[in-house]
Amino acid sequence: MKPKFETLAIKSTENTFSDVNPVSIPIYLSSTYKRNANGTYNNDFVYSRNDNPNRQVIEKSIAKLENGRYAFAFSSGMSAVSAILQSLKTGDHVILPDDIYFTIKKLFNEVLKPWGLSYSQVDMTDLQALENAIKPNTAMIWVETPSNPQLKLSDIKAVSKLAHKNNALCVVDNTWLTPVFQNPLNFGADIVIHSTTKYFGGHSDVLGGAVVLDDEKIASKIKSIQQLNGAVPAPFDCWLIGRGIQTLHLRVSKQSENAFKLAKYLEKHPKVKQVNYPGLKSHPQHNLAINQQDNGFGAMLSILIDGTKEEAFKISTKLAYFTTATSLGGVESLVEHRQSVEGPDSLTPNNLLRISVGIEHIEDLIADWEQALN
Ligand SMILES: *Cc1c(COP(=O)(O)O)cnc(C)c1O
Repeated sequence: MKPKFETLAIKSTENTFSDVNPVSIPIYLSSTYKRNANGTYNNDFVYSRNDNPNRQVIEKSIAKLENGRYAFAFSSGMSAVSAILQSLKTGDHVILPDDIYFTIKKLFNEVLKPWGLSYSQVDMTDLQALENAIKPNTAMIWVETPSNPQLKLSDIKAVSKLAHKNNALCVVDNTWLTPVFQNPLNFGADIVIHSTTKYFGGHSDVLGGAVVLDDEKIASKIKSIQQLNGAVPAPFDCWLIGRGIQTLHLRVSKQSENAFKLAKYLEKHPKVKQVNYPGLKSHPQHNLAINQQDNGFGAMLSILIDGTKEEAFKISTKLAYFTTATSLGGVESLVEHRQSVEGPDSLTPNNLLRISVGIEHIEDLIADWEQALN
């Protein structure tokens, strides 16, 4: 029987290339997968929310790079954060750093508190303060090292130990350093999260998140949440993240080298009161950075301008090679007046500028600050 036009339009566009061998993985946009006559599915791909080739590639890759057994990809860093927090139960308590990616605090206040999760914020550089903040129902200690935006460091080994002594999990948000510079699981952390929007993607053109861990039981919980909530990345987004991973090491090595040089320049400038960068000897936890980090100190820094909020903001707008925008980790340099982005609850100093250093030539970047500050 010859199919009619409408039927032909469908059948003639079917994928029939089962024997091609592309070097770069194709983007498998299909939302669903054909079942074999015996009831099985090739490679167990059934439905794209549950799993698909592009997602599987980056999950396996990120697990390996973070030295973990399991990785799960999400549609954004925040959906990865949410998945971890949804694995807790009503009544549980979480300890957050005082300096933290602001949206996580907002998620607690607006969504998780009404569901019965509570939190406290402590200065995690102070282990005694952290120990004092642990309650009988503390289920999780959340770590950002370096923290956003003040680049405070936490001792992952010590915090994990303290967490485990109190039957809590230690979660590390490793977005700012990437596994090139820091592997939290090696220091005893239970779970690592990433906003892959940042360095993994690396080109400011895709959103994504990832959760990495070793424990089989927690992994199966996270997997259920991933598949049932459905905050999964699209195949094209996974493809972009996978492509970013291929150049991650090259990009962040250059970015970190540039950041270090810029930090040293800014530290000497009279208009700059303080530079927060763990690579500098003046950073209060420089030695911890040396012990906990490899291959460099990362490409994020923040500075306190010797002046008012308005002066700090104005300087950011005078820069030519640093775009005034939120986010970080792309190949292009960005600058942000963080407090005005975070809003009225912000604990960030109002003369702070957050800087994400890109891969441009360092002499241009320094000259740009020279003209903006003078
Ligand atoms: C950006 C960011 C997040 C949130 O990730 P999204 O991809 O924007 O949802 C979480 N933690 C840190 C440290 C971040 O920088």
